[in-house]
Amino acid sequence: MAVSALISRELPSITLEEPFSFARHTTIGCGGEARLSAMPKDESELVTLLQICNGYGIPYLFLGVGANVLPRDEPYSGVVVRFSRMKELKKMGDFIYAGAGVTAGALCRFARNEGLGGLEFLTGIPASVGGAVAMNAGVNGRHISDCVSEVVGVTRDFRIKAFSLSECNFSEKRSVFLEGIAVTGAIFRLERRERREIEARTAYYAARRAHLPKGRSMGCVFVNPEGKSAGALIDGCGLKGLSVGGAYVSQRHANFIINSGATAGEISTLIGLVKNRVFERTGVLLREEIRRLPPST
Ligand SMILES: Cc1cc2nc3c(=O)[nH]c(=O)nc-3n(C[C@H](O)[C@H](O)[C@H](O)COP(=O)(O)OP(=O)(O)OC[C@H]3O[C@@H](n4cnc5c(N)ncnc54)[C@H](O)[C@@H]3O)c2cc1C
Repeated sequence: MAVSALISRELPSITLEEPFSFARHTTIGCGGEARLSAMPKDESELVTLLQICNGYGIPYLFLGVGANVLPRDEPYSGVVVRFSRMKELKKMGDFIYAGAGVTAGALCRFARNEGLGGLEFLTGIPASVGGAVAMNAGVNGRHISDCVSEVVGVTRDFRIKAFSLSECNFSEKRSVFLEGIAVTGAIFRLERRERREIEARTAYYAARRAHLPKGRSMGCVFVNPEGKSAGALIDGCGLKGLSVGGAYVSQRHANFIINSGATAGEISTLIGLVKNRVFERTGVLLREEIRRLPPST
């Protein structure tokens, strides 16, 4: 029986997309196809979906809006689990609950309309709440972990669990949720602020992003090493404009790789070249921020 038939027999109301194109659903716009994508409507559908996959030995992975991932060119025989139907947004005093599929933009607008400040730094970052929490997204020394009060998720043994801030293990572009735990929603602790003030901060953060490169990318490829800028290191090695096939290091921001018709393999080769040259010339080993999907086994 086809995987989609197996899943929809148990979960008649789940949304499926078959096949699923990584190129169409990622900002970098490359990669092969997955057998199937499944979009559960809530935690309980997600638990059943993961149990079915586990029971039949079908691999799965999680995807947000695909803004920080490099897919592979090869077909993926598993299920891409997406959270785009988990879009609940609700205010609870000075807290907001947002489902994993809410976009960062929608979350910021909702908070602004409710007169709650603290999330303005997320303005313009392409992200879902699930992806932003998993990646501990942020800018300018501010991270989403600064505002998280609790995260709701599904554990590797398929339990729905509320994670306290300390259980999230947040660090620079990392969290426990990158280890096979699904984020289904998060509660943010915010501050009551004048709407005018929130709007001014939103405009400030939006303006700071005007210089970012245009074109298909994954945002920053490498994490900034302690006390250093990855972009400045790459630039200092003269690597702006370096290209492999249709992928090149941006002239505007050396930590961005732009895809103008490259395969995932070419992008991966370019990342390797940049890493090696920076290491040879500076002794600094850059750590990748982007996530490979599926992860290497
Ligand atoms: C132009 C551009 C600018 C950017 N600027 C910034 C910036 O200023 N600051 C910044 O931090 N980032 C930036 N990024 C990177 C990206 O926006 C963030 O990392 C964002 O948090 C990714 O969210 P996403 O929903 O796209 O996650 P995805 O890219 O889809 O996934 C990222 C990782 O999270 C996992 N994941 C996704 N959803 C879930 C979930 N629900 N549960 C568990 N795991 C999940 C995926 O498996 C993957 O490992 C930029 C990207 C682009 C393209």
